[in-house]
Parts: sequence; structure tokens; C-alpha cells
Amino acid sequence: MTERCDLLITNVHAATMDPSLPGAYGAIEDAAVAVTGNRIVWIGPRRELPETAADQIVDGEGQWLTPGLIDCHTHLVYGGHRAGEFARRLGGESYEDLARAGGGILSTVRSTRAASAADLYRSAEPRLKALIREGVTTVEIKSGYGLDLDTELKQLRVARRLAQHHPVNVTTTCLAAHALPPEYDGRADDYIALVCDEILPAVAKEQLADAVDMFCENIAFSVEQCQRVIDAAHRLDLPVKVHAEQLASTGATRMAARASALSVDHIEYITDEDVAAMAESGTAAVLLPGAFYTLKETRVPPVDKLRAAGVPMAISTDLNPGTCPIASLRLMMNMSCNLFGLTPAEALAGVTRAAARALGICCSRGVLRAGLRADMVLWPMESPDQLAYELGALQPADVFFGGRHVTAG
Ligand SMILES: [Zn+2]
Repeated sequence: MTERCDLLITNVHAATMDPSLPGAYGAIEDAAVAVTGNRIVWIGPRRELPETAADQIVDGEGQWLTPGLIDCHTHLVYGGHRAGEFARRLGGESYEDLARAGGGILSTVRSTRAASAADLYRSAEPRLKALIREGVTTVEIKSGYGLDLDTELKQLRVARRLAQHHPVNVTTTCLAAHALPPEYDGRADDYIALVCDEILPAVAKEQLADAVDMFCENIAFSVEQCQRVIDAAHRLDLPVKVHAEQLASTGATRMAARASALSVDHIEYITDEDVAAMAESGTAAVLLPGAFYTLKETRVPPVDKLRAAGVPMAISTDLNPGTCPIASLRLMMNMSCNLFGLTPAEALAGVTRAAARALGICCSRGVLRAGLRADMVLWPMESPDQLAYELGALQPADVFFGGRHVTAG
């Protein structure tokens, strides 16, 4: 470290989430963190801090510092809402029934196509701000409610623009293969051709997506159709992610693993062979307990097997108007413990280190370590176990975004 840094935080405990440090949180008690520019340049026990001058010194008052939280799977740019469908599901209709009757995703497609970019921005902003208030500093946002070239581009441009006006990193994912648009009814292969030959190349040309996603499920697209989307993404040098095995076992996870996918998401119905394939390919699991809860599912993802195989387990909101209209990543941490059996430390890893893996950004974010981006949250708590345990009252005291102090509690 040089003798001078921009920001020095002392008198904190750091839950670094660095797996090379001992303990589930990689904790450093009585730590100091030095930042220059937007990077951490030194972190360790305060007593080992080299002599250094700092432009700004923050006294952490014995609170805990964590990496900025990462919500790695959201659909937060959309038109309208589906509260009416919520009521119908409470009356006994299933998600599949509603989807087959033209509701579900397709009702949001109609609203999103009808909305202007300004409308989409205005309705998405409060959702993004709710996440930011909870200490989220990186959000992935998917398209997939356009299902035509213009609307897919519109959604992705809005996602990019949200990042320009808020203290948050946004990664974008093109999910044009989310559902079959009504004008292609009975012609799924033709729609996949549109996705591969027109939508993805246009998205790539404008550099609007960091990855490509697809919904591989009996009510969406087959493994063969998704393989065509993967091939098209790879021709454009874009990594892939897959909504896989949420409602049934389909083989989607093994397809994703063969394609070295960044993540497979949902995965309630994966098999032992699928887990082995993920471990082999380094593909992360993204667990979405909010969708599981909303759909009143009973089959949980095989957390014990994923843990035993060393598959990184990310946790995300899946924030979307149908199956998880809940803009709270902290609630998802709590649900991942109560519904899926994760430990509080695994829940925090799921929204930091593992979420960074699921987005392919673990070289820059998700852990507090010298050289990585200084996205950090200071929490007024005595133990990092409180993050998954305590909701509502426990809020960030301070957030540092790229080393810049952006909120004070
Ligand atoms: Zn999703």
C-alpha cells in the first residue's frame, strides 16, 4: 500500500466472505480497510495496518462491514402488475393454468410493450431503490417481457439507464427466450429463430447485454430450442444462464453445465447427476426462495447435495410481477434459511461471493479483499448472523459504493 489513501475505515469488524480466511464469514475482528479510487488497497487487523495518511477517516464504531450485497437475478423492469392473478391463485388456479390461459408472463408482455421507456423507468426506479436501501450495490436485470426486438431493446436500455442515475452496478441479461409471444402461437421454432438471428445480434451490437438467459421448462422452451439459443449466444461471445427445473426435471441443468453456464436458476427438480455436472463445470446454483414461497411449492432444491459437491449457492429475489413481487434481498436471505436450510453464513455468501460467481464478476466483487471494488456496507449489529435473522429494524448504517460514501443511516 502507498503511504496515502483516499478513505480509511477503522474500528470495524469485517465479514470479508473471503474463503481463504478462516471461519464461515472470513471474519477479521477489529479490522481496518484502506481505499484508493474505487478499490480496496489494504484490509486486515488494525494492529497490522501500515503507517498511512488518509484524506477521509471513518470510525466504524465497532460495527460490522460486509461486501455490498448482490441481487443476481431480477426482472425488475416491467409494465403493469399482476395483483389480480395473485387473487386467482389464492382461489386455487395454478401458475401453469394462468400461463396457458394467456395470463402470467404474457399479461406482463402486453403491459411492457404498451409502456414507454419513460414509464418503464419510472415504475422500475422504486423497486431498485428498495434494494439499494437494503445495502444492494449490484443488481442483475433481465429483459424478457418484450419478446419482440423493439421491446427487448427498450427494456435493456432502461436497465442500463437506471445504473447511470443510481449508486448501483447493473448487469443486464437478455431473456428473449422467456415465453412464446402470442403472434408466434404454435410456431416456437420460428420464434427461437427470431431470437437467435435478430434479437440477440441486435442486443450484442448495441452492447446491451452481459449475458443471455432462457426459460427451459415444459410451459416454455425445450432443451433443444434452448440449445439453439446457447449456440447463438456463444457465437456472439456472450455467457449464458438458464431458468431450469423449477417445475419439473427436464435435463436443462446438464445442458447448461455442458455450455459452461454461469448459473442455473431455481433448480428445485435437479437430480444427483445434475449436481455432479454443475460441480464439474463450475456453474453456480441460484436459489430463489421468494418464487418458491409465492407459488407455494413443496419441493426444495437439494441444498445438502449442492453443499457437499461444493457448488456455489447464490440467493436472489427473482423480483418480478408474477412469482416474486418482493423487492427485499434480506427477506430472501431469511427465507433461504427457513425454507431451504441454509446457514446464516451461507445466506450472506449467497448474496455476495456466490452471487458474484453467478454473474461472472467474482474477480471484482463479492468479497472484501485488496484489489477488489470497494462496494461495502456498514451494519449496526453485533454478529453477521443477524443479517439473515433480523428484518425491518436492521438497516445499513453506511454504504460505500466504489469507495464513495453514498448513504448515512
Ligand atoms: Zn426469473
